[in-house]
Amino acid sequence: MELPEQHELALDHAWHLAREYLGGLEQRRVAVSAHPEPIAPEGIGLNAAFAYLRDHVAPYLSASPGPRYLGFVTGGATPEALAADWVTSAWNQNVSNKVGSIAADVESCTVAAYADIFGLHPAMHGQFVSGATAANLVSMATARHWAERTHGALPTVFAGAAHSSILKAMAITGIGRHRHVAVATQPRRTAVDVVALRAALTAHEGPSIVVASAGEVNTGDFDDLVALADVCAEAGAWLHVDGAFGLFAAFDDALKPMTAGIERADSVTVDLHKWLNVPYDSALAYTRWPELQREVFAATSAYLGDDPDPLHYTPENSRRFRALPAWMVLAVQGRAGIGRWVADNCRQARLLARGVESLGMDVLHDVSLNIVAFAPKGADAAERDAFLARLNATGVVFMTPTVLHQRAAVRAAFSNWSTTDADVDQILQAIAECIGGTTETAP
Ligand SMILES: *Cc1c(COP(=O)(O)O)cnc(C)c1O
Repeated sequence: MELPEQHELALDHAWHLAREYLGGLEQRRVAVSAHPEPIAPEGIGLNAAFAYLRDHVAPYLSASPGPRYLGFVTGGATPEALAADWVTSAWNQNVSNKVGSIAADVESCTVAAYADIFGLHPAMHGQFVSGATAANLVSMATARHWAERTHGALPTVFAGAAHSSILKAMAITGIGRHRHVAVATQPRRTAVDVVALRAALTAHEGPSIVVASAGEVNTGDFDDLVALADVCAEAGAWLHVDGAFGLFAAFDDALKPMTAGIERADSVTVDLHKWLNVPYDSALAYTRWPELQREVFAATSAYLGDDPDPLHYTPENSRRFRALPAWMVLAVQGRAGIGRWVADNCRQARLLARGVESLGMDVLHDVSLNIVAFAPKGADAAERDAFLARLNATGVVFMTPTVLHQRAAVRAAFSNWSTTDADVDQILQAIAECIGGTTETAP
């Protein structure tokens, strides 16, 4: 069948532009900075617009979907995920409702398939949202509603190392950032001290939410979910697990025990645009209590559909068919295929840790997952900044700064499907060349 000419032309341009970018991804400088020109309001036409993108935008993109971008926790896009994402736009289904399309039901199947692999409680109900921030927001809104229904009061949130998005969600939902209690963590870890948590909950009057980390951003560390579930059961607290990237441990048999206890959570967050390597933006918000969630997010109106339409469970109404890339990756790779890059990334993190230690630097935690926080010996924040600036300026790799256990550190997060051990060698060589500034020569 023939495509209308405008479609043919536009998609052909898109194909060439994408191909050029992906073909040069490994050679591209990993991070750059640049600023675009304003758009001419009179329009420039299809050919000129694509030419503009090619000449004035594409050269200044980062190589964040490539193998050596280790900043934040950043996934790439597997070939099948990217292809499914293109199809998502071509199909352009609105998944706000279940009327007249199979799309929302494909989402439900996808949500259930992942829940099963993550080992969630069989009664868990899930929805696609734009990211872990949105998923944490959905959970905080639902837990806030639970607190008001059962206790007639706003909840207090206890956590050893809550991600900043939890505080953002607390502010948006009206719980308020000031109701966050930072509980002591275990020595040289970011996992919460369970004794301190139990004491804090016992001393507290009123409803409580415990936010557990299943993969803390500076260390990859996991809270002891079994112990936290016990503590929450004793105290009548809501257990939310932020497993944005870490829950992908469930895809590898050797790592899966870290996730024990996840089936006892009241709500769970998982990002898909990180370790699943689907294109932005995609995440899952799971809850044991969909009726409560619906009471918060219901948008009933004579012209809109009814339960179980997705629009009654998340902040969004209209939205794209976000499940398709996640469906595709699981369909193509299976659990074992995804588990392979999860295990590879963890091995690469250990290789990097061993490598920087042999270069005389300090690794600031046990490398139990895919993240490494390290620091040049004795470096203060300014010296760490100078080292990191030199390293990122090589164009070989991109890492980001952090502070861990009161030390200015550099963090590297491995979450790309295409990273190889040879990339780690290349990164270590760049690090070696950057130690001690430009005056010292590489070993
Ligand atoms: C990345 C991350 C978030 C926020 O996720 P976004 O997808 O950036 O919104 C929340 N929690 C944890 C633990 C994360 O790693």
